[in-house]
Amino acid sequence: MHSTITKSHWLHAQDCQAMAWYELRTAPSSPAEPDRFRMQQGQEVGLLARTLFPEGVVVSPTEGRTSAELTRELVQTGRAATLFEAAATAGPYTAKADILCREIGGWHLLEVKSSFSDSDKLSDYVSDLAYTVMVFRLAGLPILRASLVLLSRHFRHGMGAASLFERIDVTANVLPLAAEFGSAADAQARLLFNSAPPKAELRQACRDCSFFEERCLGVGIEHTVLELPNLHQKRLKRLAAEGVVQLRGVPDDLNLTECQIRVKNSALSGTPFIGRILRRRWTPSHGHATTLTSRPWRRRCRCTLDTGATSRCSPNLVFITGTRPPPGCATASISPTRPGIVNGNLRKR
Ligand code: SF4
Repeated sequence: MHSTITKSHWLHAQDCQAMAWYELRTAPSSPAEPDRFRMQQGQEVGLLARTLFPEGVVVSPTEGRTSAELTRELVQTGRAATLFEAAATAGPYTAKADILCREIGGWHLLEVKSSFSDSDKLSDYVSDLAYTVMVFRLAGLPILRASLVLLSRHFRHGMGAASLFERIDVTANVLPLAAEFGSAADAQARLLFNSAPPKAELRQACRDCSFFEERCLGVGIEHTVLELPNLHQKRLKRLAAEGVVQLRGVPDDLNLTECQIRVKNSALSGTPFIGRILRRRWTPSHGHATTLTSRPWRRRCRCTLDTGATSRCSPNLVFITGTRPPPGCATASISPTRPGIVNGNLRKR
């Protein structure tokens, strides 16, 4: 079990405390290829952002000395006005600041993101920053300002690195949120280090949660309500309040859409559904057409499918596609002799 709480644990706990509880007790898995690519891009952007502060000093841990200890020493001795990768620990909480600049009476904390300045993720970034500010403040560092360093859409090839970035001062949003986080920090740590997990309740975050089937609400359930496509937040809340996770337990008066009813019936009966349009498009001359589900077969499978789909979303809805499905997707084939009937069960490649 991890002994420290990181930003990722904290932010996931905002969505679901049970998720953060499980993460604290799970060894991190190596990132998938797309994640590695994004991380590499982020690192490159971070390095470029450092050129905006030529006087900056990188805080690198040495043998026997942590980044947090070195940061404290550099702050106290005043040897550097700008620090990169400064670290702080406060109780179980740890955080790193991309850039920390000394100002009169305190510090300015900047977070570099490889997104454009008009990104729709600004509120997520504010929460990111608020966590980091909370930890640095709990560690005794007066943070006076907080800013995001984002990519500029005005940058053109040949311009200098300074033109690549825009700084957005988000102090007014970050400081109150950091104070709110700070007042909840002790209770959150107690809950996350408790021997029993917090109560799990169905929510949107369950859809992408790797613990759903393995350790949490979906354990041992063949078909869950999360298979229903586009389930409205209100309906999900009602199912959560009634403790319904099994698909067969969905109450009749939930007012499912036609597509959702089709998915439910198809999943519970084990009978794949092939729509009218798909039947029309298929002819025996297509032979053994490859089909695939519009929903990734594996949780966290990131492939996006361009299937020319006639309908959406269920392991039991199949679509004709001319392309070979990516590994991990479910495939099925249409019987050349009986149009509209899927030949065999969906199987994992
Ligand atoms: S499956 Fe849902 S309730 Fe359980 S940990 Fe994941 S997000 Fe939380």
